Amino acid sequence: MAKADIKICPYVKCPFPDHEVDISVHPYVRAKNGRYYHEQCFDEEQKAKKRTLEEKADIALFLDLWNKHISNTVNYGVLRKILNEYIMRGVSTDYLVFCLQYIVANRCILNYPNGFKYYVDRREIKDAYEKKQMQKQAKAIDEQLKKQSSQPIGSDSNAPHFAVQKQQSQGFERILNK
Ligand SMILES: [Zn+2]
Repeated sequence: MAKADIKICPYVKCPFPDHEVDISVHPYVRAKNGRYYHEQCFDEEQKAKKRTLEEKADIALFLDLWNKHISNTVNYGVLRKILNEYIMRGVSTDYLVFCLQYIVANRCILNYPNGFKYYVDRREIKDAYEKKQMQKQAKAIDEQLKKQSSQPIGSDSNAPHFAVQKQQSQGFERILNK
């Protein structure tokens, strides 16, 4: 086999031995930069890049919300560290943003970065998030069905819907002072 047919796949998590792409055999993609990827590796890298961009946007949104509604003198290093801990544990940045939106909308007590930890695992916030996800899915299906209809679609799709009763702030205070 001609050596020219062997390329090196640049994908960091490439599962092939020595990252070798045999373009005479493997399905491959030639990227804009001229590098040859295994087709599957290329797709995975694209997906990972997209995820990273979404996460960055969510983190920026989170910090902005915190700055506007919680405190504008927060130690961003500490806050980012806490967010990263959750991301490492597999918590989605979408949920972290939702959790902060919930705290703001329900005027829950939150004054400092570590206080956020008391809310992330709260059942009622998780339930509200799941409900929102389900509504999103239902809406997507609904929109698919209505595709040919000329009816306008509600404009409040970006507003979070909170179906859960507002918590007694006393309860939170008790937790925070533990
Ligand atoms: Zn590869």
